[in-house]
Amino acid sequence: MFDVLVIGSGASGLAAALAAERAGARVALATKGSIQACNSAKAQGGIQAAVGPDDSPEQHAQDIWTSSHETANMELVETLTSSAPSAIHWLEQLGVAFTRDADGAYRLARCGGATRKRLLQVGDRTGHAITKALRDAVEASTVARFPNAPLHELVSDGGWRARVGAHDVEAATVVLAAGGRCFREAEERGELSTNHPGATGEVTRLALDAGAEARDLDALQYHPNGGAWPANMQGYSIPETTRAYGAVLLNADGEEFTDSLGARDVVSQAIVDEVAKGKGVETPDGRPAVYLDTTRIPVADAEVSLPYMLRRYRAAGVDPLAEPILTYPVLHYQNGGLVIDTDAQTTLEGVFACGEIAGGTHGRNRMMGNSLLECVVFGRRAGRAAATAAR
Ligand SMILES: Cc1cc2nc3c(=O)[nH]c(=O)nc-3n(C[C@H](O)[C@H](O)[C@H](O)COP(=O)(O)OP(=O)(O)OC[C@H]3O[C@@H](n4cnc5c(N)ncnc54)[C@H](O)[C@@H]3O)c2cc1C
Repeated sequence: MFDVLVIGSGASGLAAALAAERAGARVALATKGSIQACNSAKAQGGIQAAVGPDDSPEQHAQDIWTSSHETANMELVETLTSSAPSAIHWLEQLGVAFTRDADGAYRLARCGGATRKRLLQVGDRTGHAITKALRDAVEASTVARFPNAPLHELVSDGGWRARVGAHDVEAATVVLAAGGRCFREAEERGELSTNHPGATGEVTRLALDAGAEARDLDALQYHPNGGAWPANMQGYSIPETTRAYGAVLLNADGEEFTDSLGARDVVSQAIVDEVAKGKGVETPDGRPAVYLDTTRIPVADAEVSLPYMLRRYRAAGVDPLAEPILTYPVLHYQNGGLVIDTDAQTTLEGVFACGEIAGGTHGRNRMMGNSLLECVVFGRRAGRAAATAAR
């Protein structure tokens, strides 16, 4: 019998497990594949926090409200943005070394929909750095880990009884941190996705069947810049930081047709419309695309902030600093999810949810860099609240 059972080992699940354990709870963490398998580790671009001298949590919140087209839950948004600087500090204490400029200040980029430079990065492997630090801390803790143990069944019996793989686990409270469903959704649509194969959404279904409420589940996000060519880069999410550092979208005639740093849904739609107007280009295997002119990125910025992207493309025979790359929107993120309050409590007593499985924080259109932040902020809150509720 545990106090808290966490489902999922992405950034949100790891943060929740750690926070619950540090609050004194006996914690179990069950996950579908290996502990390493998740979307969080694939995140490249960065994590938002209002730490710049011209910025504030209020401005960050306002940018989310605008980017969400006024559909986000502002209570959740204000919790997210006001907790962001302390979330960054917590990650640093766990060993995450955010990239800094020569003067020692954080290297901040402006992401789509943002009015300020607010994106902290660890090169272009930010998600990898964050999940590794969280995983190391969880592995050094008393958290009992059940890898290769997908949640099949969740039954309320005073507390909660869960069937995870071959194990029956009982816990007073449960934290659902099983991510979104874009891998499955893309397979069903016959489209490409940036997601890892575990992103299939069955935990959301179990929660709905148990009576939990959800919102905006139909609002799926396309990443404006999926790789379109070479073939082995198809479905790769070209970091939005390419555009933050100067890359622009061009049509077949070499014309800019949209604000390359607009909100994600607006930029994706502009690309789709441009192709529909006959102003796109075709990949050698006949897929639609436009150009992302990455040659405009200064070499020094690319070397510090995009080394992984450069390595991937150069290994595939294309140098993004010498020629534009081909791109088209690709299914990426589940904007909506389970309804939560500011403690990440769902509408089911004793069940908490954090990360991509939860809805409200981004409304119907997430800004880049706010998902990793949501994982850390609401993961910690979920862990602490689940530990308290278990008592
Ligand atoms: C390629 C890519 C790049 C991205 N870049 C950024 C970025 O730069 N900045 C940003 O903020 N966000 C970014 N995102 C989004 C962000 O990384 C994710 O939305 C976020 O990390 C999700 O975290 P999570 O913990 O909710 O879910 P995940 O990290 O997906 O973890 C979910 C976990 O649940 C497990 N699971 C699933 N089903 C079950 C089940 N039935 N039983 C048990 N366990 C289960 C999975 O195996 C996994 O361990 C990116 C996403 C992708 C895919």
